[in-house]
Amino acid sequence: MKPAFSVPVKPVIQAPPLVEEALGDDERVELKARIKRLMKEQDAVLVAHYYTSGDLQDLAEETGGCVSDSLEMARFGHAHPAKTLIVAGVKFMGETSKILNPEKRVLMPDLAADCSLDLACPADEFAAFCDAYPDRVSVVYANTSAAVKARADWVVTSGIAAKIVKHLHRQGHKLLWAPDRHLGEYVRRVSGADMILWQGSCVVHEAFKAEALKKLHAEHPDAAVLVHPESPESVIALADVVGSTTQLIEAVRTLPNREFIVATDNGIFHKMHEVAPGKILLEAPTAGVGATCQSCAHCPWMAMNGLRKLAAVLEHGGNEILIEESIRARAAVSIQRMLDFAVAEKAGRIQLGD
Ligand code: SF4
Repeated sequence: MKPAFSVPVKPVIQAPPLVEEALGDDERVELKARIKRLMKEQDAVLVAHYYTSGDLQDLAEETGGCVSDSLEMARFGHAHPAKTLIVAGVKFMGETSKILNPEKRVLMPDLAADCSLDLACPADEFAAFCDAYPDRVSVVYANTSAAVKARADWVVTSGIAAKIVKHLHRQGHKLLWAPDRHLGEYVRRVSGADMILWQGSCVVHEAFKAEALKKLHAEHPDAAVLVHPESPESVIALADVVGSTTQLIEAVRTLPNREFIVATDNGIFHKMHEVAPGKILLEAPTAGVGATCQSCAHCPWMAMNGLRKLAAVLEHGGNEILIEESIRARAAVSIQRMLDFAVAEKAGRIQLGD
């Protein structure tokens, strides 16, 4: 039977130019001191993603905040008593923090810090997708707007996506998935679920190249290959470990290998070097045959965050995340399903088997 809705292949979203904050030593020291004072005055805590600059990651840890993936950033903000959460990351992360912490003021260094996955999945198009398949359960990746989360049945992160989809598949559900086609394909392969996939992609992970990776691995045969599942299938096929940012950092810390080839945003190297100081980290190649790299292993939206902008936001206000309450409340339901699932699975109340 002809499908009621044909999922369009999304054009690759044009990323902005990559502009990283360059600071001299004196300015860095002065900015950090000023930000620390302002954070104290405003009862603020900083949560930073692994892909942001080393300066922001260090500042978050020096001031009692956290450096983590998007879910843990939101969870940390929820548990922390501070009245203001500063989210160094991209917009959907600020929104997720606000969804889970409506009573708190959530600020970001730059509200223009977006994500190609979020941009590729407008809420009205996603609603039409769901309407066309009313018998399917909709599962969306965390990298989506609050309005898309509000329309979805489940929100998942890369670390838990396969488990939740496997669970829904075993319950007999057929699924809709959005927005990342590579992560969707990966989850479909490992779960065996019947899934119709949205066709978005991440400008950073889309650029990793399998042939060039094989060549680099041949030059470093003892290196373990770590791949984030937003990467193309041909790159995932070469991985020793496929996992979320947190799972890849854990792999560098615990595996016995001395060398690692890492296919995810190179901002993660800051934390990897910290947890495994003696190990050698190589960037997976983004060049080679068919190269279309717009951002070459570093997200241009993540790079919009920096100490100067953070100081300006604390000094002059603005850049607050605000979400209409009806959207926020519905989005909170689909996020809470994932959080409840994670707790139940950890407690052994949900058995997934192999
Ligand atoms: S690295 Fe990719 S998925 Fe992450 S924020 Fe940037 S564009 Fe989005």
